[in-house]
Amino acid sequence: MRFKRVLLKLSGEVLSGSNGFGFDFDAVRRIGEEIVEVAQSGIQIAMVVGGGNMLRGRELEKLGVERAQADYMGMLATVMNALCLQDVLEKFGVPTRVQTAIEMRQMAEPYIRRRALRHLEKGRIVIFAAGTGSPYFSTDTAAALRAAEMEADCLLKATKVDGIYNADPKKHPDAVLLHRLTYMEALRRQFEVMDAAAFSLCMENAIPIVVLNILQKGNLKNFLVKGTDTGTIVS
Ligand code: UDP
Repeated sequence: MRFKRVLLKLSGEVLSGSNGFGFDFDAVRRIGEEIVEVAQSGIQIAMVVGGGNMLRGRELEKLGVERAQADYMGMLATVMNALCLQDVLEKFGVPTRVQTAIEMRQMAEPYIRRRALRHLEKGRIVIFAAGTGSPYFSTDTAAALRAAEMEADCLLKATKVDGIYNADPKKHPDAVLLHRLTYMEALRRQFEVMDAAAFSLCMENAIPIVVLNILQKGNLKNFLVKGTDTGTIVS
């Protein structure tokens, strides 16, 4: 096994499948299956889920909503995604807990670091929702923060793309997938792996960042369990 404990960052957009908005439940189930396979192999999984399939604070601000208010709405979107994932994962038979950075005790536990660690040790998937609980942050930053707090062996950013390329593959069909990068290379070459706050948290705490395509069947398990070289590792 490559890593014992992983912080999996799932952006909201992967939950919307080809719809581009909201939920595509077939897509959510497919992703859930990939995650469950890894969990059943004994790897501890903590997750941070985004909300971009519903709304992003910055976009709402452009429509005239006050930024902090818009960000709280964004954080609520991440809670809906967390509850949706919890439902899907538990239907596959894996125990889970949702912990929110803003208290919503009727629906989920509040975030308590030591309790989250205990859940992981017991084999439960912990889904962290509501980001950091503060506006002006992103769920990438929340993922880096929780990865440090959970002492995760890596922050795995599950996306719709295969990893980091030397050029935009949509514009340059001959773009090459980069399998390994150092933090400094990623910074110097301005690859937008994650936002700056998230990136620097990982770099300062020496948490490797893995970017891989979660929509490709078996990819997550192949990388984490079988050690196949797929995606990009920044370390
Ligand atoms: N958000 C926030 N604080 C946080 C995390 C998220 O205010 O700590 C808000 C912010 O408005 C953001 C939205 O929640 O746009 C959804 O998160 P994000 O855009 O990171 O989701 P993703 O793009 O990963 O789906």
